Amino acid sequence: IIVMIVTAGCSSTEKASSTNHSKLITDDSKPYVGFLLDTLKDERWYKDKALFEEEIKKLGGQVKTLAANGLDEVQIKQAQLLIEEGVDVLVVVPHDAVISAEIVEIAHEAGVKVVSYDRLIKNADVDYYISFDNEKVGEIQATEILKKVPNGNFAYIGGAESDNNAILFRQGAMKVLQPLIDNGTVKLVHDQYTDDWNPDIAKENMKTALSKNGNAINAVIAANDGTAGGVIESLAGVGLAGTVPVSGQDAELEGVRRVVQGLQTMTVYKPINLLAVKSAEMAIMVAKGEEVKTDKQINNGKIDVPAVFLDPIAITNENVRDTVIKDGYLNEADVFK
Ligand code: BGC
Repeated sequence: IIVMIVTAGCSSTEKASSTNHSKLITDDSKPYVGFLLDTLKDERWYKDKALFEEEIKKLGGQVKTLAANGLDEVQIKQAQLLIEEGVDVLVVVPHDAVISAEIVEIAHEAGVKVVSYDRLIKNADVDYYISFDNEKVGEIQATEILKKVPNGNFAYIGGAESDNNAILFRQGAMKVLQPLIDNGTVKLVHDQYTDDWNPDIAKENMKTALSKNGNAINAVIAANDGTAGGVIESLAGVGLAGTVPVSGQDAELEGVRRVVQGLQTMTVYKPINLLAVKSAEMAIMVAKGEEVKTDKQINNGKIDVPAVFLDPIAITNENVRDTVIKDGYLNEADVFK
């Protein structure tokens, strides 16, 4: 009990002995990894959690995962808690790209390295970043939608502006769309981010887009399956679900079901097992004080962060069986129920 009080109340002495953390609830001999999630709201993060934890244990480490329910101050508190518990490394999915820089600062003060997972922490000395090629995700979304509707009125329903990925998804989509906007083939009649990736807000935003344009919207690029779900509900409200192409991302069960039902045009499959396995390997190496070799880097506004990027895959009605089902990512019976 005394140790706990001292650790919680007097972090400066703890920080000073950063190379000699007291691992309160853990086995001192095993690398201890803290995994900080923004949220467990979207289905994918359950997969990230399960697969990452499994891999850390397989590699002989121990892990504790905390999710912040989309609250920045909670995420920072959780980082503090895990540092006080003596984690050897923090793996973080930041809620807010900028506010989370504080997590890196407090971790580094305690001698704990930080891996930015899936989403980039900005303006901080992040040690490593591992993610999918997020700009490519946006390119894939726009490309698949253009195959269905090569011209007309487009709406962009983005992700949370506080998430650097949402910016990259939009950038990727615009890389493909901008030349067509410039030559008048495509008109971007609505372009809006979605607070906190909330499907209800995406639904409202899409409603606005429709009414503002007298329902004359020919295609929608929605940033993920959650926002796509909201968009499709709004389209259904005016009898346009299944008629207007809509993109998505994450190959969530509901998203892929809508794809096979013809309500959603595509989703983007990001094999989470690859991300989780590679991140776990990276985390264990970092925890042991080993250097990780990376072949890419990304500027986060402060430094070039050593990075690893994995490839996203376009999913349409044609390749559902050969991809997400073949990989065991989703169950055939669930998808075609
Ligand atoms: C992830 C997406 C996810 C979104 C909402 C993004 O940072 O890359 O896969 O759909 O957050 O949770």
